[in-house]
Amino acid sequence: MRDTTFQCPYCGVGCGLYIDEKGRVKGDFEHPANRGDLCKKPLYLPKVYDRGRVEKPMYRKDRSDPFREISWEEAYTILKEKLTKLSPEETYFYISGQLLTEDSYTINKFVKGFLRTNNIDANSRLCMTTAVTAYKLAFGSDGVPCTYEDIDDADAFLFIGSNASITHPVLFKRVLKRRRETEHVVVVTVDPVETETARKSDLFIQLRAGTDTVFLNSVLYVLQEEGWLDLYFIDKYTEGFERVLEYARKFPPETAASICDVKVEDIFLIAKLFAHSEKLISFWCQGLNQSANGTMKNLALLNLHLATGRLNGRGCPFSLTGQPNAMGGREVGYLSNGLPGYRDVRNEEDREFMEKFWGVEKIEPEPGPTITEAIDLILEDRIKLLWVVGTNPAVSMPELSKVREALDKVFLVVQDPYWNDTCEFANLILPSAQLGEKKGVMTGSDRTLTLCSPFREPYGESKPDWLIFTELARSMGGGRLFPYMSPEDIFNEFKRTTEGRLCDISDLSYDKLPARWGDRWLYGEFSFPTGSGRARFHEAKFELPNEEGLFVLITGRLKNQWHTMTRTGKSPELLKGEVPPYVVMNPDDARELGIEEWDVVNLISKRGEVERLVKFGNMKRGHIFAPFGYPKEFGEQTNLLISDRTDPLSKEPDLKYAGVNVVKVENPDRVWKGDL
Ligand code: SF4
Repeated sequence: MRDTTFQCPYCGVGCGLYIDEKGRVKGDFEHPANRGDLCKKPLYLPKVYDRGRVEKPMYRKDRSDPFREISWEEAYTILKEKLTKLSPEETYFYISGQLLTEDSYTINKFVKGFLRTNNIDANSRLCMTTAVTAYKLAFGSDGVPCTYEDIDDADAFLFIGSNASITHPVLFKRVLKRRRETEHVVVVTVDPVETETARKSDLFIQLRAGTDTVFLNSVLYVLQEEGWLDLYFIDKYTEGFERVLEYARKFPPETAASICDVKVEDIFLIAKLFAHSEKLISFWCQGLNQSANGTMKNLALLNLHLATGRLNGRGCPFSLTGQPNAMGGREVGYLSNGLPGYRDVRNEEDREFMEKFWGVEKIEPEPGPTITEAIDLILEDRIKLLWVVGTNPAVSMPELSKVREALDKVFLVVQDPYWNDTCEFANLILPSAQLGEKKGVMTGSDRTLTLCSPFREPYGESKPDWLIFTELARSMGGGRLFPYMSPEDIFNEFKRTTEGRLCDISDLSYDKLPARWGDRWLYGEFSFPTGSGRARFHEAKFELPNEEGLFVLITGRLKNQWHTMTRTGKSPELLKGEVPPYVVMNPDDARELGIEEWDVVNLISKRGEVERLVKFGNMKRGHIFAPFGYPKEFGEQTNLLISDRTDPLSKEPDLKYAGVNVVKVENPDRVWKGDL
């Protein structure tokens, strides 16, 4: 059984799974993240393995030509020619939190060490970079401070900007189990949308979209006014509190309640929770991260933990990771500024270490452009080759009409197990092996590494991502840097980069996994890697984007689908109840516009328009919700409506806040199939 264990390829909870001899997926009882539990999504993995796969490398010089199948040798020749002709700055790599650590490490080394450019980013930019930025500002590092075990003795849980009941189901079930088994445990949700998480909570605070920073600053105000601060903790372990308090004073509860459209008592209640519960864990996800005010939202929450000493035995801020191996990607430094072992290209010492370690002459000191910046550079003709690995920007990126224009213009390489919407724009498609067909490691949200063992042969001619880059590098004369014969060789190299670092895994090996790096509490002695050793408060300033339209559109996930449905969308069982594409409206808002449930409407922003079927739900007045992940076969994508505005610090796009108008379509010209 241990031969076929692996980590679930969907959310960041990182559940350990195994496939039994009849091909059925089950939860691994020996895995610390889930202890045998699992949700519905991975159950259907075996059924979708062979549906819609890319079988062989395919190429077309011009997009007007049909694809022709080519050999791997020819694919490498085309790539070698392109990469030799173009300057490193004219190339760009966009990779994924779905990849195994060995894949991400190899690609990162290929780009930053071998090609010598930092023109690489990952889809974590659309997901976790805000949490990473805020953690680093507050604690000096972005590791999650606590672990899942902390759920089992906490008595207060705050979910803010997270619909964990559907996005991180196994973790949420663990919270509900704790509540079921223990008196006085409280679960509170703060969100503009009445989500499934909100419905299962003891209290739901429905605030106006984008105003979390105000709400949380006001909680700090109340904590101070009521004498509920942990002054000992603030004095001994933190710095910068006074300025933060000065800013929070702008938001007395009455003022904040009116901005956020909540009750004054709600603000007091959260303050009481921070002040008086025994142990409080706050969970958040894209509701705080995917925002132009996102780093400030994160910091406002971290400030509350610091102001009340809610760390370690007394609580924890716990960012939920969206993707299965976004944590592994952070460890290998796959974003445009990262280097392995939680290092940064801007840090001279970090660069020097990695230059020596890899045996390369120079690593560039400036971070490369982020993916949204790269799209602009493509349109300006400054980036000429884009290589997308394991992600689907033609659906997931903001301001999609602009992204499509860029995909149409650039020489596009798509490396993926499945044919996805981005393939439509490609010049070269490379079939990659997926989880179950290759070996390697993933790291879940609470820093637990799991070895994913293969249980079937790669489909068609597909190859593991690390092997594709290794073979290409060798064909370009990089054999010395890429001597790998197996993923274990890569893991053994990578782990040496972590020695003595916060994410030290140097004493781990494949046969010791699953195992977690760091202690149960990352800052067990309240000593933080900030230089001064103290955690830092930061003013969490409020700003709301200026968007036109009668409604604020909030986007999010579907319950049983993952990301852009490339794999889960091929399972009829998982599609049930999730198509056709819909929008949730408040019935009063809808009826004022002459719209009834199941009518078809046009959602119109200044960036585009899409048709959706109307479902009624408990939305705040003036807000609508639409899932974002539908590929083209189901109609136009929600993200056509979304701006590519980003958070100034994390550069994460503002994916959950767009001004739109809603207009009823009188005679829809398509048949809306599905079983909503
Ligand atoms: Fe997979 Fe997440 Fe479900 Fe666990 S909770 S089985 S990691 S999708």
